Amino acid sequence: MTEKLSDSIRYNYQFIEERISEAAQKAGKRREDITFLAATKTVDVETINFAISLGLKYIGENKVQELLSKYDGYNLNDASLQFIGHLQTNKVRQIVGKVDLIQSVDSVKLAKEISKQSVKNNVNTDILVEVNIGAEENKSGVMPEMLVELLDEIKDFENISVKGLMAIPPICDSSQKISKFFSKMNNLFIDISGKNIDNISMDILSMGMSADYYEAILSGANMVRIGSSLFGARNYN
Ligand SMILES: *Cc1c(COP(=O)(O)O)cnc(C)c1O
Repeated sequence: MTEKLSDSIRYNYQFIEERISEAAQKAGKRREDITFLAATKTVDVETINFAISLGLKYIGENKVQELLSKYDGYNLNDASLQFIGHLQTNKVRQIVGKVDLIQSVDSVKLAKEISKQSVKNNVNTDILVEVNIGAEENKSGVMPEMLVELLDEIKDFENISVKGLMAIPPICDSSQKISKFFSKMNNLFIDISGKNIDNISMDILSMGMSADYYEAILSGANMVRIGSSLFGARNYN
């Protein structure tokens, strides 16, 4: 890792911390109410561990193969590893027991497999339900109108705990437009909380990425997932 890269990550980390603090304050919250998770796809473990040494506490991978290939290198004494990408049912067994939270559960079938593998490994797995808040075709996430039904179906599954909701809104060309989707998510989050469904807790609302985490926090997010603003533009080679 070059000095240039570590300097820029240190600078970016500080900058993001300040913006999160400012947005939290504007939203009537404290800095510690907001979780900063770094999306670490394409980033090598040395660089990830450097970010952890700066104080980063949460990292998220979005591909199973990449997570497994990096797994032995992460400094997980100081950070929690989560899965944030689209997850195929047949890959669940490879990550259960390795990740603290799976953010991207959008079907009964997937929840059932996470439950089954968690029982097998004698662990509990926390999950978020991913909502397709823009109702976009060909995108992951449960449709908003199907959310309560999904929660009802999975709430009694063994060894999994629903901890909240996650969303990736449609690409928008203005902060007003994206904020509408964030607000819709926040309304769903509040509605579900109010229903007090057994075994379902609404602690985490995960939304907002590099371009829009400030707006997301203003609209109620308490977890943001930030990649390129921390590590720089991704190089997929
Ligand atoms: C890559 C990724 C992010 C972060 O994206 P940036 O725009 O680089 O901040 C957030 N969430 C998920 C699910 C991702 O895959």
